[in-house]
Amino acid sequence: MEPMLTVEEARARVLAHVQPLQAEAAPLTAALGRVVAQDVVAQESLPPFANSAMDGYALRAADTAAASAAAPTQLRLAGEVPAGRVYAGEVGAGEAVRILTGAPTPAGADAVIQQELVTVADGLVTLTEPVNVGVNVRAAGGDARVGTTLVRAGVELGPAEIALLAALGAHPVLVTRRPKVAIVTTGDELAPLGVALRPGQIHESNTTYLLAAIQRAGGDPWPLGIVHDRLEDLEAALARAQEADLILTSGGVSVGDYDLVKQVLTRDGDMAFWRVRMRPGKPVAFGMLGTTPLLGLPGNPVSAAITFELFGRPAIRRMLGAAQVERPQIEVVYEGEDIPMGDRRHFVRARLATRGATLVARSTGAQDSHLISSLQGATALLVIPEGEGAIHAGDLVPALLLNDALPWGEW
Ligand code: AMP
Ligand code: MG
Repeated sequence: MEPMLTVEEARARVLAHVQPLQAEAAPLTAALGRVVAQDVVAQESLPPFANSAMDGYALRAADTAAASAAAPTQLRLAGEVPAGRVYAGEVGAGEAVRILTGAPTPAGADAVIQQELVTVADGLVTLTEPVNVGVNVRAAGGDARVGTTLVRAGVELGPAEIALLAALGAHPVLVTRRPKVAIVTTGDELAPLGVALRPGQIHESNTTYLLAAIQRAGGDPWPLGIVHDRLEDLEAALARAQEADLILTSGGVSVGDYDLVKQVLTRDGDMAFWRVRMRPGKPVAFGMLGTTPLLGLPGNPVSAAITFELFGRPAIRRMLGAAQVERPQIEVVYEGEDIPMGDRRHFVRARLATRGATLVARSTGAQDSHLISSLQGATALLVIPEGEGAIHAGDLVPALLLNDALPWGEW
């Protein structure tokens, strides 16, 4: 039998089997969280024309060079330009034009004096100080020039990127199609959501977990329901599931009579691995069923969640063409009881907090793979390496950040 893979080896095999999906146009109004499929290059300048940063008077700076409180300069008020209009004429020598914020600076003018600094009477604008060239004029292209790369391929669009693209008229935007991710859950003991339990049954929770986690990863979940622990039922469900971009199964991959997912993958597909040297989640399988990658997650809810996090999410991110496929890893100071090391890498659910300038981590509590409560509130996975000895309080430990934003705050 093949030796058990490390997490890195297993993830490399998963990623070797998935590619970015095609691009599609998305309106900017529905682009939050989508991944940009190709570099977006500015086709326009931003601002598109030089314009006023103030409500005031557009003028020729040279005309004001001699202005002082003792000897004010007077300019003839020649007209007005509000935002959204273009001044028809040119500002001539000795002239000023009333201008409002955002209006294009008229031809001839090279500065704007704000209205609070002048007095206006009888068609004359009186200044008591000189104005330098360029003052209160926002340059065309100051924010972005034609040809500038606005957003690189692989970037996930947030409100700021969306605003920038909107301001440059880059609408709609080409994003990678969301992968359709089939969820097939196995287990005779599982009652679907909202259905009362019969003796010996438990409420099914992996499908609902995966529905949420797939969406958060950027995928489009496709739940296919609960399948009984019978080969024909599983085969039928997997036949449908092959239309998806990725199949996730839950349960039926450990060593036992009902390891049906593994059987189907071995017999009808091409299995790349079925065990990984990790805790929780050792019995995780991956392979191709026809042309569709299939990730067989263990049934235990925590194992399913952690193996999705370490293999399923990166697969989805790769399909999205995301620049960052894996979670960011940082080092944190461990607080709490000793954690013994073993022959499998241990992913400890933890909460992070700050102690001054230091990030510290504490376990969420008991870590058994059936305890869903150990996932709750976890903002990081501590990565306890394979080895001998133990992790002690005060040790620096690598941690995978589970949230996009750092969870600053108290316990
Ligand atoms: P299995 O991997 O199928 O042997 O399941 C391992 C453990 O996880 C058993 O205690 C199952 O009852 C439980 N389990 C399996 N699938 C689910 C599920 N979808 N929701 C909640 N618990 C599950
Ligand atoms: Mg089962």
